[in-house]
Amino acid sequence: MQEQKTNMDTIVSLCKRRGFIFQGSEIYGGIGGFWDYGPLGVELKNNIKRAWWRAVVQERDDVVGLDAAIIMNPTTWKASGHVDTFADPMVDCKSCKRRFRADQLEGDRCPECGGELTEARMFNLMFKTFVGPVEDDASVAYLRPETAQGIFVNFENVVTTTRKKLPFGIAQIGKAFRNEITPGNFIFRDREFEQMEIEYFVRPGTDEELHRHWVDERLGWYRRHGLSDSNIRVRRLEPEEQAHYAKDTFEIEYLFPMGWSELEGIANRTDYDLGRHAEFSGQPLKYFDDETNEHITPYVIEPSAGVDRSVLAFLFDAYAEEEVRGEKRTVLRLHRALAPIKVAVLPLSRNEALTPTAREVWAKLRKHFMTQYDDAQSIGRRYRRQDEIGTPYCVTVDFDTLEDKAVTVRDRDSMEQERAPIEGLAEMLRNRIEGDG
Ligand code: ATP
Repeated sequence: MQEQKTNMDTIVSLCKRRGFIFQGSEIYGGIGGFWDYGPLGVELKNNIKRAWWRAVVQERDDVVGLDAAIIMNPTTWKASGHVDTFADPMVDCKSCKRRFRADQLEGDRCPECGGELTEARMFNLMFKTFVGPVEDDASVAYLRPETAQGIFVNFENVVTTTRKKLPFGIAQIGKAFRNEITPGNFIFRDREFEQMEIEYFVRPGTDEELHRHWVDERLGWYRRHGLSDSNIRVRRLEPEEQAHYAKDTFEIEYLFPMGWSELEGIANRTDYDLGRHAEFSGQPLKYFDDETNEHITPYVIEPSAGVDRSVLAFLFDAYAEEEVRGEKRTVLRLHRALAPIKVAVLPLSRNEALTPTAREVWAKLRKHFMTQYDDAQSIGRRYRRQDEIGTPYCVTVDFDTLEDKAVTVRDRDSMEQERAPIEGLAEMLRNRIEGDG
């Protein structure tokens, strides 16, 4: 079996040490399955979401965006099937009282203490809450376990306001919540996480072809943004693995340390969801096909990706340790579009003569990019610090700068340095950061 060369502890410790990701409510001992994104993590995560939005909404003419509420009318979850079937089989250990997902256990004893396990019972993963001041059955609501249903219930609104013709899609990024029995593997399985989902509505009969289109599109997106071919693959689910609504599903999987695991699911959900919402709401939820003069219920192709799992995969793929002139260098080779900090401004030393110019250069650049200013310790140490967080370019202000009005630009990957005039520096860096590839 292939193995991921970097282990989980290395990434977890980098994330904590450099401010990417912290344990949620850490000062109170944490809370299982919840994580906080720090100053660098929020940049990386926002950049991933932006890159996705750009590829699936901005650069296409057949997909529009949406931002629906997290809490929905609870009938939504009856119609979608979540109230009845969104459950995992759970077992308890009779000795140590730990709980496990029965379908993830290998033997029939407790993996922690070897104790006897209870019979499996179904455990619904939706978080419940109450809407309004009265806590009774009539006011029960759920935190959404997926963003998809917010899209389906707005199908009619979007069709009438945008006049989109089939095939077209609706894209949404947002939080989802699942009371997972066993969260774990850092941010891979959380109880609060973010999804990036598209519901792509198609004419029945064209669904299989457009399904393949989306698998290729999404795979291409991960590759373009840095995931290497050997760490990513597509797997078609077996008939017995399909969800109750799905005709066919492909998973894009990444080679994490715990093995190949799902990054994104791309399902053909047929007309299941629109049909069910039509039935439960009494609204027709049909599309008028002016080619055939028929009212039809479109089929749906759903590429459903996890933001947090993407963050983790991009970190794993970018992480490298190498030796440079006898010293260890840790570098995150993040794609430039994803790197949290694009440019670091480093005065050669804290010498008073350099500071005003260095600050001036910084003031110019920070209007264009996320930047950092660092004047602590040797220049070599500062380059290493930026390498470790994936900053593509370092700009150094030295004594020559005061004479020639130029700076040294260092490239993270090649470590090559070149002289560039301050005049036009922002444009030069922008071309490189936003350029193709
Ligand atoms: P799994 O089999 O891993 O529980 P799933 O098949 O239930 O996942 P989907 O319902 O298809 O997942 O959700 C779509 C995407 O949302 C997943 O591919 C994943 O990226 C993300 N996702 C789902 N559950 C979680 C979670 N608990 N934590 C983080 N991301 C998640």
